[in-house]
Amino acid sequence: MTTTTRQWLLADHPRGRGVEDGDFQLAETELPDPQPGEMLLKTRWLSFDPAQKGWMENIADYVAPMAIGDVMRGGAISEVVESKDGKFAVGDLVMGTTGWTEYHISNGAGLVRVDTELPPTAMMSVLGTTGVTAYCGLFKIGKPVAGDTVLVSGAAGATGSVVGQLAKIAGCRTVGIAGGPDKCKWLVDEAGYDAAIDYKAGGVRRQIKEHCPKGVDVVFDNVGGAILDAMLGEIATGARVVICGGISRYETGDLPAGPKNYFNLIFRRASMAGFIVLDWADEFPAIRKRLEGFVQDGRLAYREDIQHGFENAPQTLKRLFTGANRGKQMLEL
Ligand code: NAP
Repeated sequence: MTTTTRQWLLADHPRGRGVEDGDFQLAETELPDPQPGEMLLKTRWLSFDPAQKGWMENIADYVAPMAIGDVMRGGAISEVVESKDGKFAVGDLVMGTTGWTEYHISNGAGLVRVDTELPPTAMMSVLGTTGVTAYCGLFKIGKPVAGDTVLVSGAAGATGSVVGQLAKIAGCRTVGIAGGPDKCKWLVDEAGYDAAIDYKAGGVRRQIKEHCPKGVDVVFDNVGGAILDAMLGEIATGARVVICGGISRYETGDLPAGPKNYFNLIFRRASMAGFIVLDWADEFPAIRKRLEGFVQDGRLAYREDIQHGFENAPQTLKRLFTGANRGKQMLEL
């Protein structure tokens, strides 16, 4: 019996502008029966990531380009509802890049079992790409040492909030930059940051100086642009600057001008490096176990922002770029 599914298709490449409704088209299609070795998956939760904007634009070469008419690429947790001797059994929850579709046929390639004692959505939040990004970026590139001052931009987000808490576990002093007083309050009260800076209040460089009087040993940047420049202005000798993302650029046409303060890398004998977390994919299962342990022993809190309704997928993606999301952005079908 065939299955009818709704799918969101890419209708335009949003280059040089924000994501708009016209970038997506809602379509309905029939899926064939699963063949031997295949499974029918029913999407339960979609994951939303700033990188999806770059995939729509075809700006990044670490993933295949997207063509108009493709099912919108994205991560999801799905339930196996039919299995013809597939890799997973009926009732199993699996995670993978299955896209914005209600149902999907899979042979199991690229899927991992949702295997956690936490609620299943944790596999896409604190144990998901954002959690492992925080872990890998901080420990493999930032290399914090107890006593270091760690400064994080995009600090109240899914990635940034985990970075701060991991740095605290490593014995560091942590300062987070986020937009608005309520996010800053959450950073200090719930996410354990020592201090928070509201970039929307202005005077970011002055506030960094105030909260990091001995300079910044590890910068973890999710934002880029003027905020990165202000952070570079206050690095300490031997600092490590981790370039994780640059969301302030994602909706603009031009790349930002180079940071004025980059010369501080010389004066402070500092290093700056970017990374793509997928390069450490082999280590994800072990890192997930470690993060799960931190949650279970009460050292790592996480926040999930779960919207509802498949028809709301485009609006949910936009929330990342307005800062409306409170924690890891997901959508429940
Ligand atoms: P998130 O931080 O949960 O959500 C995005 C946040 O970015 C928003 O809540 C908003 O917070 C902030 N933001 C949006 N526009 C901004 C602007 N113009 N200026 C300053 N802040 C802005 O999202 P996430 O999934 O955890 O991703 C965070 C970053 O990690 C992104 O840059 C993403 O591309 C990057 N990332 C990198 C890798 C990698 O392998 N390198 C992997 C995963 C994610 P405010 O309200 O505070 O502005």
